[in-house]
Amino acid sequence: MKKLIFFLALSFSINCAKAQADSPVAITGTPIEMLFPQGKSKALILSFDDGRVADRQLVHLMNEYGLTGTFHLNSNKLGTKDYLTKEEIKSLYKGHEVSGHTANHPGLTSLSKIDVIYEVVEDRKELERLTAYPVRGMSYPFGNTNDFVIETITGLGIEYARTVGDTYNFSLPTHFLKWQPTIHLFGKTNYIPNDTANDSRELKAFYQLTTDFLKAKTLALFYVWGHSWEYEGPGNKWGEVEKFFKMISHNPELYYTTQISLVDYINAYKNLKFSVDKTMVTNLSSINVFVKINGKVFTIEAGSTKQLN
Ligand SMILES: [Zn+2]
Repeated sequence: MKKLIFFLALSFSINCAKAQADSPVAITGTPIEMLFPQGKSKALILSFDDGRVADRQLVHLMNEYGLTGTFHLNSNKLGTKDYLTKEEIKSLYKGHEVSGHTANHPGLTSLSKIDVIYEVVEDRKELERLTAYPVRGMSYPFGNTNDFVIETITGLGIEYARTVGDTYNFSLPTHFLKWQPTIHLFGKTNYIPNDTANDSRELKAFYQLTTDFLKAKTLALFYVWGHSWEYEGPGNKWGEVEKFFKMISHNPELYYTTQISLVDYINAYKNLKFSVDKTMVTNLSSINVFVKINGKVFTIEAGSTKQLN
């Protein structure tokens, strides 16, 4: 009896394997790889928090090098000491993304639900008035979040939120509301006061990671975050900022993006509608999407259906 069961099981698995080999259904297992816009495999996000006056110099430098940024602002702080004025927000950040950082910069994990909602919605509302477009993302003050905060901001029109839990790798976010960046600009330099040995180690590691990214051959997102005010004062780092910008600017292999544009692109990719056998695909979005299938790159034009063979 045992032998018979074994024989039946064996012949069933052989037949299944044969059916898979003969049937077009087998190609549903074909891996489909997302590429960034223009078929690029590397993307760069530069993201800065707080909206202090030093953003003027930072944005000027970024514009000079043709770089795009996402700037997370505290609307109730604007117009106070060391912060930008409300009047300059729209013109200063033209071509960049203005995003939320809560109205007053409290640690959200210790607030009540209504206060979290107020901080996020009030910030969105005021920044939208200043920029004249919907503000759809944020970064958490102090990078702090938890399940309560995430659940509370869900449904408030926030499509992504960044923490400060650096990954030191180039992976894409697995959860838009728990988005971990790659690295703080210049690593943890100046985290320990007057420790020059630590600073030089951190700086070296930061540039090594930048070089690794520029050499990467697989899909890679380099997400660098920081604060413009960190480059002021006695340890003036503007020269270092410019050195980094020179390293990463005007590179035809890179897709330079704001955070929300990348969210929109990933969503467009996730919403592609494939046929069962993966030989056809419909792109319902208004964004051209690029995919790689069996080593071949396809452009799925916005609003079109494409044959993939
Ligand atoms: Zn902050």
